[in-house]
Order: sequence, then C-alpha cells, then structure tokens
Amino acid sequence: MAVPKVAVVGAGVIGLSTALCITETCPSCSVTVLSDQFSPNTTSDVAAGMLIPHTYPGTPIHMQKQWFKETFTYLFAISNSAEASEAGIHLVSGWQVFKNTPKEELPFWSDVVLGFRPMSEAELQKFPQHRFGQAFTTLKCDCPPYLLWLEKRLKAAGVRMYTRKVADLWELHSEYNIVVNCAGFGAHQLVGDEKLFPIRGQVLKVHAPWVKNFIRDGDGLTYVYPGIHRVTLGGTREKESWSLSPEPGTTKDIFDRCCSLEPSLWRAQDIKVKVGLRPSRESVRLQREVLSQGGVKLQVVHNYGHGAGGFSVHRGTAKEAAQLVGECIAALRGSSSRAKL
Ligand code: FAD
Repeated sequence: MAVPKVAVVGAGVIGLSTALCITETCPSCSVTVLSDQFSPNTTSDVAAGMLIPHTYPGTPIHMQKQWFKETFTYLFAISNSAEASEAGIHLVSGWQVFKNTPKEELPFWSDVVLGFRPMSEAELQKFPQHRFGQAFTTLKCDCPPYLLWLEKRLKAAGVRMYTRKVADLWELHSEYNIVVNCAGFGAHQLVGDEKLFPIRGQVLKVHAPWVKNFIRDGDGLTYVYPGIHRVTLGGTREKESWSLSPEPGTTKDIFDRCCSLEPSLWRAQDIKVKVGLRPSRESVRLQREVLSQGGVKLQVVHNYGHGAGGFSVHRGTAKEAAQLVGECIAALRGSSSRAKL
C-alpha cells in the first residue's frame, strides 16, 4: 500500500472537518469526500452554529470537554485571523437565562468559554420572567460560509469531492483502503444503526441587524443567536419526528417566544424558515471497525451521531477520527509487511 486511499462519506460539518484533519495528520494520504448532498443542502446548513455544548449522556464528561475545548481553540484562532469573515466565525456575547436557579450553576464548559459569570441584578432586569442567569462570550459559526470555507481548504489540500450516494460501505472496498463514515443521520440507513434517532428542529433566520447579543433560555428551547448577516431564532426539539416540512403554527410559536425574550424582534424582517433532523444518539459513535467478506477486509472509522451539538465539538471529534485513521494505516502497513514475509 504505497499511498493510503481514504474515502470520507458525508459533507456536513463532521465529514468536511474530519477530511481536513486527515489531510493534516496524514499528508501522504489520498483523501476523497463522497456525499449525496453538499452545502447548502445538509443538516449542518440549518444549524445555528453556536458553541454551547449539548451533553451526550453516554460519553464521559472529560471527553466532551476535551472535544469542546479543541473546537473552541481552533475556531477562536480563526476568529482572530484575516480568515474570520470568509469562514463566518465570530465571537458573540450574551446571556443564558433561567426561570429557576439551575441545579448546576457551573456547567462543565464554563471555563472554556470566555468571561463566564453570574448575571448581575441590573442585567436580569432585561428579563423580567427570569430569576437567574449566566453571562459569557462564545463563538458562532455562520454555517453555510463555514462549510464552503472547509470545502475550499480541502480542495487546496488536493482532496477530491464527488456527489455519490453510498448504499453500503462495503461497495467502496475495491476503491479505498479506509472508509470514514460521517453520514450523520444517513448512518441510520447506511449502517442500520437503530441507536440513531432524529430530533427535529425548526428555526427562523431573520433580518434584525440591531440584535448583537445572544439570548438562550436555560431549557435550550428558545434562543436568539445573532450571526454576521442573519439572526437565528429557535426552536424546537421533536424526538422521533421525521418531517422536513416547516410547520406554520410552530413558526408563529417560535417567533412569539423569541419576541418575549427580545421584544425588538417584533420589527424583524425577511423571515425564512428552516428545518433539520439532528442525528441523535446517547453518545457520538467514534469507533474503528473492520468489515470482512470472504477473507477481504475493509478498515472503517465511524464519526457520527453528534445530535444537537455537532458544531460545538466538531474539531475535537474530527481530530480523534483522524487518529483512528492513523491506527488503520498502521494496521494495514503491519498486515502488508507480514504478507511479504
Ligand atoms: P449532516 O450535516 O447531516 O451531514 C451528513 C452528510 O452525510 C450529508 O452531506 C449527507 O448528504 C451525507 N450522507 C448521508 N447519508 C449518505 C449516504 N448514504 N451516502 C452519501 N452521503 C450521505 N449544533 C451546535 O453545535 N450548535 C448549534 O447551535 C446547533 N443548532 C442546531 C439547530 C438545528 C435546528 C439543528 C437541526 C441542528 C443544530 N445543531 C447545532 C446540530 C448540528 O447541526 C449537527 O450536530 C451537525 O450538523 C451534524 O453534522 P453531520 O455532518 O454529522 O451531519
């Protein structure tokens, strides 16, 4: 095996960032991205792209923190460079507010974001229905520009990208040495993962350039996240709902909830509605697997199931997936040198 051939299936934030990490850790690899959809038609394009972690109950907190920290550090450096506007990455300050004081006043990520502190009484006056709040500065990705920026970096690194629906990972075994499965919710069908389920999210993207601070209700259901050009208003979390059609009643409900947090939004214009299915699982599947048929083997790395928090941890999980690809290469080199003996 002179040059390891790697196929990454999926072109959402997870597939593109994983492909990029593979080119960085294994510059001699030949990397190809295969996907049935690219930006602007992925779930990743619908996301708000805020770096506020979602908790995966099946993954140790120290790992989740490490993934978040790596992602924050990576995007913070981009936000502090000339690339920031093209990549759609910016710092944003704001408030997470609670109707009742939460059990956990210091979330595990509080020392990763910047300037985390309890809100003052004066700040809380802005939110008369809330009794407690946390102020901090975090990062936000404007998702479609960030995905295009990742694609541009991949092309510059010599990565090929093809539109292709993969019906079965095994169909790639004659063309590639290693397959990385970043199919998001598509993994439900692609590898028959019954642990993967959809959590439907509907959001509004509005024109309200005067809104500069984020506001998130502590239950995570209602949020106002200002981006570079549009403000994302959310949202919904509908478990096991598969519909990608916007619900007009839900649009009104989201708008009303957000206006009660930020009354200036009553004047928002050009409301666009988006729907996505979060690829949800108890834990992200970040794992090596060796498929085998008739004595022929295919090295596989899975990296999917990021649910409501894919943007918040994408770089950390991509780095770990790239390390697993490194282990696959070592295993392939080991078996080819044994075969020569
Ligand atoms: P996707 O973006 O769905 O990409 C999967 C890719 O695989 C696609 O390109 C698809 O075409 C391809 N594919 C699938 N099956 C196949 C196949 N068989 N063959 C070939 N290609 C295939 N996260 C945050 O961190 N912060 C937020 O603020 C945030 N807000 C969100 C708001 C909403 C409304 C929603 C829906 C999600 C939000 N998320 C947020 C979560 C985030 O969007 C996801 O965790 C993330 O997008 C998952 O990325 P992914 O690349 O795994 O999946």
